Amino acid sequence: MEDFSGKSVLVTGSGAGIGRAAALEFARQGAKVMVSDIDEKGGEETVAMIREAGGQAAFRKADVSKAEDVNALISAAVEEFGRIDCAVNNAGIEGKIAPFEDQPEVNYDAIMAVNSKGTFLCLQAEIHHMLQAGGGAIVNLSSVAGLIGFPGLSPYVASKHAVIGMTKNAALEYGKAGIRINAVCPGGIDTRMLDSLADQVSAGAQNSSQMMDPLHPLGRIGTPQEVANLIVWLCSPQASFMLGAIVPVDGGFVAQ
Ligand code: NAD
Repeated sequence: MEDFSGKSVLVTGSGAGIGRAAALEFARQGAKVMVSDIDEKGGEETVAMIREAGGQAAFRKADVSKAEDVNALISAAVEEFGRIDCAVNNAGIEGKIAPFEDQPEVNYDAIMAVNSKGTFLCLQAEIHHMLQAGGGAIVNLSSVAGLIGFPGLSPYVASKHAVIGMTKNAALEYGKAGIRINAVCPGGIDTRMLDSLADQVSAGAQNSSQMMDPLHPLGRIGTPQEVANLIVWLCSPQASFMLGAIVPVDGGFVAQ
C-alpha cells in the first residue's frame, strides 16, 4: 500500500462514483483530500465517509466548466491544506444518446463544457500551482470512449478524445518541471453514469450490468474501486516513470 501521509489531493466530481472511490482510497492511504463537486450533498457525503473512517477531508463546491469556480477551488485547497500534491480531473457527464446527425447542439456544448473545457481549466490551474510548488502528479479521466468510437455517443467520444490530447500535450510540456500527467480510460464501471446510458439504450429493460457485462472480455463491468486503485497508483512514487500514459482499465474492452 502506498503512503500518501502528509500529501494533499484534489479530486473533482468526487461526490459520487469513481471520484468518490478515488477520494476514499487516497484518504485511506493517508492523504488530506479536497473533495469537490457541483453536487453539494454528494460531496458532503464523501467528506463524512472519509472522516468516519478517520481521514481528513474538506468540501468545496465547484462547476469545472467555470474558470472562476476552478480558480476558487484551487485557492481553497491551498488555503485548507497548504498545497496540492496530486489532482484528479474526474468530473464528467455522459449526455444524451442520439445518432450523429440528430445530436442537439446543446448536448454537444454541455458535454464539451464539462468534460473537455473542464479538464482544460483544471489542468491550467493545477499546473500553475504545481509549477510554484515544485511538482506534482495529475490524472485525467478519459474513457475507452477516448480511444475508440461508440455509435450514439459522438459528443462524449469527442470530449474524451480531447482529454487524451490534452493529457499528452501537458505531459510533454511539464514533465521536466516534475509534474507527471497521465490519463486513465475506464471501460464500463458500475456508477450512475453507466445506469443512465443503459436506461437510455434499453428504456429500463436491462440494467447496466445485464447490458454491459457481456461486452467485456472479463465477463463483467468494473467497480469504482478498480479505477480508483489505478488512479492512486499513478499518483504514487511507484509510478515515477509514468508520464503522458493513456492507461485502459477496462476488463479487456479495447483489446478486442
Ligand atoms: P458519476 O455520474 O457517478 O459521477 C460524476 C460526478 O461528477 C458526479 O458527482 C457529478 O455531480 C459530478 N459533476 C458533473 N458535472 C460536474 C461539473 N460541471 N462540475 C463538477 N462536478 C460535476 O460518473 P462516474 O461514472 O463516476 O464518472 C467519473 C468520470 O469517469 C467521468 O469523467 C466519466 O466520463 C468517466 N468514465 C466513467 C465510466 C463509467 O462506465 N462509469 C467509464 C469511462 C469513463
